Amino acid sequence: MSRKLWLPYAQMATAPALLSVANAQGVYLELADGRRLIDSISSWWSVIHGYAHPVINQAAKEQIDQFAHVMMCGLGNDPAEALAEALVRITPDPLQHVFFSDSGSTGVEVAMKMAVQYWFNQDQPKTRFMAFRGAYHGDTTACMSVGDPDEGMHSRFRGLAPQQIFAPMPPECGDCDLNCGHLAEVEALLAQHAHELAAVIIEPLVQCAGGFKMHSPAFLQRLRELTERYQTLLIFDEVATGFGRTGTMFALDQAGVCPDLLVLGKGLTCGYSAHAATLASRTVYAGFEGTDGGRAFMHGPTFMGNALACRIALAGLSLFADEGRLTEVGRIENQLTRSLSDFQVEGVVGTRVKGAIGVIEVDDPARLQGAQAYAMERGVWLRPFDRVLYTMPPYIITPPQMERVVHTMRGWCETEQFKRAVGAGAAVT
Ligand SMILES: *Cc1c(COP(=O)(O)O)cnc(C)c1O
Repeated sequence: MSRKLWLPYAQMATAPALLSVANAQGVYLELADGRRLIDSISSWWSVIHGYAHPVINQAAKEQIDQFAHVMMCGLGNDPAEALAEALVRITPDPLQHVFFSDSGSTGVEVAMKMAVQYWFNQDQPKTRFMAFRGAYHGDTTACMSVGDPDEGMHSRFRGLAPQQIFAPMPPECGDCDLNCGHLAEVEALLAQHAHELAAVIIEPLVQCAGGFKMHSPAFLQRLRELTERYQTLLIFDEVATGFGRTGTMFALDQAGVCPDLLVLGKGLTCGYSAHAATLASRTVYAGFEGTDGGRAFMHGPTFMGNALACRIALAGLSLFADEGRLTEVGRIENQLTRSLSDFQVEGVVGTRVKGAIGVIEVDDPARLQGAQAYAMERGVWLRPFDRVLYTMPPYIITPPQMERVVHTMRGWCETEQFKRAVGAGAAVT
């Protein structure tokens, strides 16, 4: 079968047909065939306020009737100005400048280019990055280069993506006293490569696409100290963890750490449109100022500061205050913790909860084959990957809806299919 629509990460010869969505409201996806599913993963973690939220819809409609987009060169628009101000207001004080772009990956690329040009402008050329094993920072070339080197992206694109430096995955120990030797290894790498490192990049607290591995705020504090000691910049990629997902507005709030560059995406535009923001500290920004045009940051995507996207983002931000979003995330965290913390069956190697992220990790990806179909029969949209069955629901999910999701996740792990699946081998992607 030859197909016109080419799908992501999919072997097109065997990929099943997509389930056509006819409508979506709140936490529900309504399929063209009439089925209704709770979206327990917020459409790749972006639809944080649920589908068709009246406040966001209203803002988007008003903006469309005025204008959707103007170029951000010579021409300005109020939503972009207001969003930049709002983002500066809700992030730590050193972050004072906002550069918009069109996706999480471009936001990360922008941060990486800013880091490289920052050092270039100081006549200290440094062009490499340190990242962590297990990391995922997006699919474009520079982003791939800082993603886990054992993931398929690296081997297939060797020669295109630059070779970076990888530290071991951040330690999972809850209260990392950091005697585990891990930090010493990070420090040794920093010492060895300080002369060439533009920045260290990390997804703070939870490596989401890396399998939902979680590390302590203390680890981030120590990493901040180390990057200062070895004079390299620190980039936090909060494309997934930002906007309440880990329980605070940003993961960095829990560590009390401010990076030099912060990347936001996904929840920024609530699943309505593609946009991202890269926030820079005063120091980084100052590294580009001057009378010499050549010091200016060399980047400018067509759709940066898109008025419609920025208006949507502003409406989404207003809901954190007006509808008490972080309180809801706290409620979700409690409920997930109650339902998952004592869950033990053979084949489950662990459960983890952080904010509105709930994870069941199993010993073999084969165990999760069939989980998606099982969940669909129970009215839940889940998408297990590799060895994890997880939920990252819209924050408006009600306790009974959340219960249905967790009950379904646990239920799958108690089926005969789950129990018998060991060793079947094939990875679920
Ligand atoms: C999704 C994601 C990206 C990439 O964002 P896109 O919008 O898909 O380009 C980058 N970093 C993290 C941590 C992500 O979760």
